[in-house]
Amino acid sequence: MGLLEGKTGLIFGVANERSIAWHIAKNTAEHGAICAFSYLPGEKMEGRVRRALKAGALDGAWLHPCDVASDADLDALFAKLKKDVGAIDFVVHSVAYADREYLKAGVFADTPRDVFAQALDISAYTLIAIARRARDLMPEGGSILALSYYGAEKATPGYNVMGVAKSALESTARYLAAELGDFGIRVNCLSAGPCRTLSAMAVGGIDVMLDRVEGTAPLRRNIETDEVGKAAVYLLSDLASAVTGETHHVDAGYHSVAA
Ligand code: NAD
Repeated sequence: MGLLEGKTGLIFGVANERSIAWHIAKNTAEHGAICAFSYLPGEKMEGRVRRALKAGALDGAWLHPCDVASDADLDALFAKLKKDVGAIDFVVHSVAYADREYLKAGVFADTPRDVFAQALDISAYTLIAIARRARDLMPEGGSILALSYYGAEKATPGYNVMGVAKSALESTARYLAAELGDFGIRVNCLSAGPCRTLSAMAVGGIDVMLDRVEGTAPLRRNIETDEVGKAAVYLLSDLASAVTGETHHVDAGYHSVAA
């Protein structure tokens, strides 16, 4: 029997088959979950997402566009989800954005105010905006999971403003966990090791990060994106019923050793 049998979830952040969200969706579906999806509006993106869902045997799933930076889009998404799907059991927040001009080594001190505000808004604030709306669709409680990276904990060359946003995201998850526990809702972060996705390619120095993990992580290798999907199944399932306010690392142990 699947660990997520009878559960329904909303997943943000599938862009293609490399996306961490895609791997999470595939693993949760294999464990019996029914997944609904939201994607960044745009014709090209819709085509890409539909192809990716088909490749993951997820075609036919509920799908709706939403720019998470827009409250109107979020309201419309959750209203439609409530009407079409009803109650949900989990949400995956696998969304981040920062102007790539400022994701290079040596430019952090040059980060302009608007670039900082946009990165923090899309990559961290949206967890609050989504959790608030999801709470109303989780009468039986639920699990909310956000994707983070080690750059939240330590200054990582090239990660820059995204590292600050991930620190805010992890803290946001803890504050949400403290408050939403009253509703039986758990909120956790999953801190993944570097994976070659569209977003990762925008971060200067991704190759250096991958080499460093391979050289120094206890497991002496990089992670497979599928391994993030597997860990997500655990955090979204009742196996993790007492786990909340946690940042769970899926990084071959990299965070646990001094480089
Ligand atoms: P990805 O590019 O496949 O996914 C990022 C998603 O964010 C895309 O689907 C994109 O459309 C979406 N997005 C960006 N701005 C949006 C907006 N305004 N509204 C709606 N959607 C928006 O890359 P990924 O690596 O799978 O990233 C997913 C998450 O995992 C991100 O939070 C990322 O920071 C995190 N993460 C990635 C890595 C890595 O090495 N790839 C490591 C740790 C954490």
